Amino acid sequence: MIAAGRADVAVVGGGPAGAVTALLLARAGRDVVLYEQSHDDALRLGETLPPSVNPLLCKLGLWERFGALQSTTSYQTTASAWGAAEPSDRSFILCPYGHGWHVDRARFDAMLVDAAEQAGARVLRAARVGKISRADAGLRVEAAEPASAATVVDATGRTARVARALGANRVQLDRLVCAARVFAIGSEPPGDTFIEAAPDGWWYASPLPDQRRIIALFTDAHEVLRSRLATVGGWTDALARTEHVGDLACGVPCGKIRVTTSASHELEPAVGDDWIAVGDAAFAVDPLSSGGVDFALRSASAAADVLLGGDRSAYQKQITDEANEYRRLRAEIYGWEHRFANAAFWSARRLSADQHFASRAATSRAVGIDGAAPSRSTEQDAAALA
Ligand SMILES: Cc1cc2nc3c(=O)[nH]c(=O)nc-3n(C[C@H](O)[C@H](O)[C@H](O)COP(=O)(O)OP(=O)(O)OC[C@H]3O[C@@H](n4cnc5c(N)ncnc54)[C@H](O)[C@@H]3O)c2cc1C
Repeated sequence: MIAAGRADVAVVGGGPAGAVTALLLARAGRDVVLYEQSHDDALRLGETLPPSVNPLLCKLGLWERFGALQSTTSYQTTASAWGAAEPSDRSFILCPYGHGWHVDRARFDAMLVDAAEQAGARVLRAARVGKISRADAGLRVEAAEPASAATVVDATGRTARVARALGANRVQLDRLVCAARVFAIGSEPPGDTFIEAAPDGWWYASPLPDQRRIIALFTDAHEVLRSRLATVGGWTDALARTEHVGDLACGVPCGKIRVTTSASHELEPAVGDDWIAVGDAAFAVDPLSSGGVDFALRSASAAADVLLGGDRSAYQKQITDEANEYRRLRAEIYGWEHRFANAAFWSARRLSADQHFASRAATSRAVGIDGAAPSRSTEQDAAALA
């Protein structure tokens, strides 16, 4: 067991954002302790990486380690029935960064944490941080191995647990939830990612390493409860109503339906005097974009620059600018689907970015994409669905 004691920086969360922040700070000679609550072998969702991660991994000096994972290449991540019943393809072939990847996220995340550890970060695995408080000598991190640190990095993902405990406000844009099941597909060709819009949300199918495929429905939290999507019966009934994705749910189901929040949010602010939020904690996007890991790596690099003497306001501006652009793009892409115009899931998301700003100005706390304060938070959804 490593005694955490004092550190320059405590990083809470060992996903891609936390691991890379710890890696860069350790390389720069800072005394860093990283807390990760889970074990490496847990199934992690978010397996499709766009080509834009390739130059990021090279710049971080992680390309060889990434190659050792032997991930599956992805040439065409957006084959979709979106806006029309007939599927159409968009290929990565013309992308300047080459192709994307289907990775084993548990192995990918563990590779990043190992790199941070080898660079000198003290890594505490299966170590949950329960509380953060301010003390005379900086911030106190409560865990089985507590630590005091001058600065804490919130890398806890969509819960943004640390920043909220220190006073930041999480502005939720929606209550998107994912209900997923993994299938062992044997000798079936793995194919590539496929997306299909449906009246109450959208489905996706994507290959996983070891001849497995994930099939997932993204919908609003209340729909998971209404249609019993956390049960095999309810989920299978919903799958049977798809035009295309149902055909990809072949092979042997592995385990139960896994339900997890996929809600978008922005954190206000994303940085304070003695803390900084990275990755999903700072700004979480719809998994439709496959952009979460890319942002986690980029925000981690930017946050490490701040903690090594950079400009906090420039970091805040970067997050705000990306969030503004994301909201515009999100409204546009959901607006491409006209077939279910009257369905609540789609009409809420077609709201333009301008309308969103107007409704947001009218409320001081969390707002939903429909302009109303959501009655439940991401945590309440997660607890109700567990
Ligand atoms: C269903 C789904 C599908 C997705 N698909 C894709 C995709 O295909 N491609 C893509 O790029 N992105 C995808 N994403 C998004 C992507 O997974 C995230 O953007 C990315 O993981 C963010 O990295 P992070 O390090 O910020 O957070 P996370 O990966 O969520 O890591 C946070 C870490 O903090 C730890 N933690 C939390 N609280 C504590 C605590 N109190 N103490 C100690 N540790 C703690 C957690 O165990 C976790 O390991 C998907 C997301 C979802 C929900």
